[in-house]
Amino acid sequence: QGTYLTQSIDADYVRGVLPRRKPDGHKGTFGKAYLLAGSVGYTGAPVLAARAAARTGCGLVTLGVPESIYAIAAGKCEEPMPYPLPDTKGQFSKKALQGVLERASGSDAVLIGPGVGRASEAAWLMRTLLDQLGVPVVLDADGINALEGHIDVLDRRKGKVTVLTPHDGEFARIGGDLSSGDRVDAAREFARRHGCYLVLKGHATVVVSPAGTALINTTGNSGMAKGGSGDVLAGMLVSLLAQGAGPMAAAGAAVWLHGRAGDLAAQALTEYAMTPQDMIGRIPAAFQSIR
Ligand code: AMP
Ligand code: MG
Repeated sequence: QGTYLTQSIDADYVRGVLPRRKPDGHKGTFGKAYLLAGSVGYTGAPVLAARAAARTGCGLVTLGVPESIYAIAAGKCEEPMPYPLPDTKGQFSKKALQGVLERASGSDAVLIGPGVGRASEAAWLMRTLLDQLGVPVVLDADGINALEGHIDVLDRRKGKVTVLTPHDGEFARIGGDLSSGDRVDAAREFARRHGCYLVLKGHATVVVSPAGTALINTTGNSGMAKGGSGDVLAGMLVSLLAQGAGPMAAAGAAVWLHGRAGDLAAQALTEYAMTPQDMIGRIPAAFQSIR
């Protein structure tokens, strides 16, 4: 498939695509990110994603969480603004729909899925949001799982921006075919068929557009293979989208900076001992390394 462009992501690429910061900008200028995340049992994912979003430059981060974990999330957020939504048995209930739409539809980019769980009402909520939201959406983790058997929901978003960030297991669950062993081809085929952007995570993460353009990441290490790493990436990605980066630019820059933060964490702390939280602490140094 040599007719398609495939490019490695390096520091020059990231420097070239990062949204410029207007000297006289205010927090509205730099974008509002809305995150729907968390459940009883997954209280860390929403906080990791929200903190990573705040560290990546957007003006405001709003975090909708199930009311059962609101106090926990609020206790761990300073810059991000958490608020409670109706839940049932610790996961979002259908009654959360109105409360999400009120805030999410006025934001610049939305992240749906980290730690949400797989209960039927929560999955219904996420699919209904995909149908109703016109703004760019990043779909991660249980947001992706909610499409299992409902891939028509994704197809109906053709013409809107949707970025999926699956690891191999999530990719397979929604019909991705990795049997050829060619991850770039597999990602391209899926993105073309469903009209979405795809970030196929793992070693050398692949980013593809619906038109077939592919980017391959060059940063990152096995110290990142720990629960919570993907939540950090999802927060960084929605933050760049909220700042007005296009989907390929946002995804390419997010995966490179995320991997660079991981490499800096490994240098300081070893691949064994580093945690996703340590990566958030190195997002500033990752930005410094592209200057
Ligand atoms: P998740 O599986 O959702 O927690 O996401 C894991 C994150 O860590 C993704 O961004 C992966 O690209 C990254 N990651 C996992 N394992 C490796 C690896 N061996 N080398 C580089 N990055 C990795
Ligand atoms: Mg994940």
